[in-house]
Amino acid sequence: MKTITTGKVKTVYDAGEGKAIIEFRDDITAGDGAKKEAKEGKGSINAEISARLLRFLEEKGVKTHLKEFVRPNKFLVTKVEIIPVEVILRNIATGSLVRRFPFEKGSELNPPIVEFGYKNDDYHDPMLNNDIALALGLCTRDDLTVMRRLALKVNDLLKEFFFERGILLVDFKLEFGKTSDGEIILADEISPDTCRFWDSETREVMDKDRFRKDMGSVIEFYSEVRRRVLS
Ligand code: UDP
Repeated sequence: MKTITTGKVKTVYDAGEGKAIIEFRDDITAGDGAKKEAKEGKGSINAEISARLLRFLEEKGVKTHLKEFVRPNKFLVTKVEIIPVEVILRNIATGSLVRRFPFEKGSELNPPIVEFGYKNDDYHDPMLNNDIALALGLCTRDDLTVMRRLALKVNDLLKEFFFERGILLVDFKLEFGKTSDGEIILADEISPDTCRFWDSETREVMDKDRFRKDMGSVIEFYSEVRRRVLS
């Protein structure tokens, strides 16, 4: 199969007939790829978590690219043109938000914050406003409106899904793609690499911050997230 792109942790292959295969590798990176390691089993854990979450969202009426989870670590997906805008949803203040603004770390954000970021490692994924996104030609004004609406819906659904499993959905990043018919659907993954998860009782970190901050037990916590997501 022809490789379409090799990302930091996933490889995308052309599967023909408007479909693609996404392979979740065991790589884990932070700081725009400056810190990189391989953790055995991580690719299959993230693929399984993402598959469950994307299927759950489909059941609730959110269209996604996932057609089939090919165990242990591949997705057969609808081929889409990825919109180079990362949509970040925040329910609890932490990370770059508290470095950039005077929010108290760990405080609840009500209403949740939707942020757009430019998907471009050379520029370190800078925050966008609507006018910059339009001036760069990244998407249309309608696309921004649709992505915002879909991201808020995904947040409502996932917040409850995780709450029932003893996990606080602190924040997360979504990517959207356009199908050949021009419809915007949810793409990429939803996993401990792209979300912040805290245990509801202990507030223990259960996501990629364990790798970013050298907290250890990365695979153990990713596995625990998988266990709860599949329960
Ligand atoms: N995020 C991501 N990819 C990115 C940027 C952010 O998956 O390129 C996720 C990140 O894991 C977190 C949320 O989006 O769950 C908000 O990230 P933030 O902007 O706070 O990033 P930080 O700079 O703190 O890592």
